[in-house]
Amino acid sequence: MAATADETRVVEGVKTQLFIGGQWRDASGGATLPVEDPATGEIIAEVADATNEDAGAALAAATEAFATWRNVAPRDRADILRRAYDLIHARTDELALLMTLEMGKPVSESKAEITYANNFFRWYSEEAVRINGRFTVNETGKGRVLTLKQPVGPCVFITPWNFPLAMGTRKIGPALAAGCTCVVKPAKQTPLSMLALAQILEEAGLPGGVVNVITASSSGKIMQPLIEDPRVRKMSFTGSTPVGKELIRQSAEQVLKVSMELGGNAPFLVFEDADLDQAVDGALLAKMRNGGEACTSANRFHVHESIAQEFAGKLAAKIGALKVGRGTEDGNAVGPLIDDTQRQKVSGLVDDAVGKGAKVLTGGKVLDGAGYFYAPTVLSEVPDDAELLKEEIFGPVAPITTFSSDEEAIAKANDTEYGLVSYVFTTDVNRAFKVIEALETGMIGFNQGMVSNAGAPFGGVKQSGFGREGGPEGIEEYLETKYVAMNAGTEPTPL
Ligand code: NAP
Repeated sequence: MAATADETRVVEGVKTQLFIGGQWRDASGGATLPVEDPATGEIIAEVADATNEDAGAALAAATEAFATWRNVAPRDRADILRRAYDLIHARTDELALLMTLEMGKPVSESKAEITYANNFFRWYSEEAVRINGRFTVNETGKGRVLTLKQPVGPCVFITPWNFPLAMGTRKIGPALAAGCTCVVKPAKQTPLSMLALAQILEEAGLPGGVVNVITASSSGKIMQPLIEDPRVRKMSFTGSTPVGKELIRQSAEQVLKVSMELGGNAPFLVFEDADLDQAVDGALLAKMRNGGEACTSANRFHVHESIAQEFAGKLAAKIGALKVGRGTEDGNAVGPLIDDTQRQKVSGLVDDAVGKGAKVLTGGKVLDGAGYFYAPTVLSEVPDDAELLKEEIFGPVAPITTFSSDEEAIAKANDTEYGLVSYVFTTDVNRAFKVIEALETGMIGFNQGMVSNAGAPFGGVKQSGFGREGGPEGIEEYLETKYVAMNAGTEPTPL
């Protein structure tokens, strides 16, 4: 399929080299790696394929820049983030088209991601000037306690393909505000959005070396030496739990400060007193945002048996009506999956559930033609032993099961090694709090199908990871607390 003039322009506008120490350069071996449009299977760009030597140069640049960036006035750091925010805001349309071309989601969803991603720059431009320590009188009355907050140091960031910009800005925003520098490695399927961001940061006046972006085909090979390098002080990863576990092991070498935003298996609970239409709208958002390729995606729907059939019918009608197709074309609500491997995984999980007795209310099949499309699917009467209740589906498939008591709903929701987010729909506030307090997840959507918000702490428990991104909590990940025991102050008055 021939690219439109706009598509060609936005792709050709991206510098596809490595961004190291404020310079754009080819990979030292001269190699490149292809970037594919998942809606067509066509190669849209070639980006530099970094070697270990390039990764080492990026870390050297981040280390050198840290010595000065940490001492740049907070207001100046804030102003650069704010300028980047303004530039991104002004270029939302072209950044959204670029994101859709490399990742597949509809342009309207890409625009929503750009706004969400950019909100982290605005939020942390405001936090940069509010990094506070404390000063207190020692409990004995003698001496004083002083604490300082200081940047942790050079960081390594590794991000996934499903939110190509937001997963970067959630780390870069607070890191820069805190006075840290970084080496960023985006996913090989979606490097263009991060490279476009590097160009914007350069234009916003960010000094060379503060943010370095390397793209590579062999992530493990080039990142391990960095993670184990004593110059790095912080590692933040967003991606799958198996890779996260391996990176935690590598981070042990230098006892790095680590943040892990890993996989999920979000339960979506609908109680018998829920506002059913509100629950169905929430389900549509929680399931179909990003085509189901989100860590926060509702992975399984547990619905009270008295309303399960009605809920399933209404959800199937809405999901079945969604138009599937290339994200660049108006009216398409669901794009392709990222690649054929992901599509086969989704297809296999659906086949397993159907083989065990689940009913297909809509979808349930691979869509023919170019690109990696899968029909939006609703399954009812899904048996407890279906694999897709245990595994992260990462696709447009909504499996529905039932429960008969609050205790059963809570037990089913918590029956997973993951703990990122849950969704709870009920109009009974007492029931809501009982359930919310019992759920083993880092986040809850209460009568709403989306939790992402730059001003709130995003993150999981159990095998969904640790650390928080967003809100006042997010900048703490990039700050160390230094305590000064002060032999100062007046003596206490005797009793
Ligand atoms: P992934 O396979 O774990 O990859 C994530 C990133 O890690 C990519 O940049 C990848 O590079 C890199 N990587 C892979 N193996 C590596 C290794 N051995 N050493 C260093 N880096 C390595 O995950 P994904 O498929 O891209 O993303 C989907 C997963 O991310 C899902 O599980 C989803 O739930 C999770 N996620 C979590 C959150 C959250 O906030 N909790 C948000 C979004 C996504 P390559 O591209 O080169 O393989």
